[in-house]
Amino acid sequence: MKPSFHARLLNGPFDDPCLYVRIVREGMALMFDAGFTVNLSARDILKTTDIFISHTHIDHFIGFDNILRVSLKKETPLRFYGPEGFTDRIEGKLRSYTWNLIGDYPLVLEVSEVTDKFIKRASFKAQNYFKREESEAELSDSTIMKGSFFRVSAAILDHQVQCLAFSLDEDFHINIDKDKLDKMNLPVGPWLGEFKKAIREGLTDSVFSIKGKSRTFAELREIANITKGQKISYVVDALGSKENIRKIIELVKGSDVLYIETFFMDKDKDRAKERCHLTAKMAGSIARDAGVGRIEPVHFSPRYIDEPEALIKEAEEEFTRQL
Ligand SMILES: [Zn+2]
Ligand SMILES: [Zn+2]
Repeated sequence: MKPSFHARLLNGPFDDPCLYVRIVREGMALMFDAGFTVNLSARDILKTTDIFISHTHIDHFIGFDNILRVSLKKETPLRFYGPEGFTDRIEGKLRSYTWNLIGDYPLVLEVSEVTDKFIKRASFKAQNYFKREESEAELSDSTIMKGSFFRVSAAILDHQVQCLAFSLDEDFHINIDKDKLDKMNLPVGPWLGEFKKAIREGLTDSVFSIKGKSRTFAELREIANITKGQKISYVVDALGSKENIRKIIELVKGSDVLYIETFFMDKDKDRAKERCHLTAKMAGSIARDAGVGRIEPVHFSPRYIDEPEALIKEAEEEFTRQL
């Protein structure tokens, strides 16, 4: 099956985290955290439409300036999502520069501050010298962003401050059965894209012109196999409390890949508690209990600089441990 999302960690596990996810079909990208982003090309930054920030500790947010610098002439809005207090943080960043010469720049930053029941929205337009404009929207479930065939959900975790964990879910995945195509003597072509779009949007009375002949949706329906969509989750900086663990498992359940912090080892669990981080062992057990396909440890404390494999091993062992 051709994946719809291509995820790549921009940096090593001791660097400031950033997960870059290309949405293949749409030619766009999402970012989860904006730690160290200077090794991302301007082209890749400009493709990014939505940036999800777990919290504004400096290691997760320092890349903002670089992204803003590259995006100043971006024609389409750049959307940011973050936890309680996020709009003030963005405004603070914007206020730290002088903006007298950008009145004809197109950039609009749309900011969503995620709280329990509401998303507080604010926009900052270059045209307006990044003056804050606000509105509010109700939140009916954990979905904070809806794309054309996917959605991003968030859980609010305790890290002494609020910290968001995210999951990216494809609504469902469509595979075209090549054998059936051949049997029906149908050629591959742009009509397949339209057909998939019709499935996604439930347009069951669509008609397609293939090799000059009209074909109805119903005639073609059997060439598509619909399977569970791809799911990727991203979890960093959370106290290993029962409540956090419950919320994380609920959010990341059934992910194909779980990117999760393994900041401390179990032998340093007291320190982990003090610093409000998970241990590698906790990350492994969360991944196991949530039934994820693969665990991808991220965000390691510098104290393990000489033994990163120990963190990975601890997480893997717990993940694969038979209960
Ligand atoms: Zn933090
Ligand atoms: Zn951190």
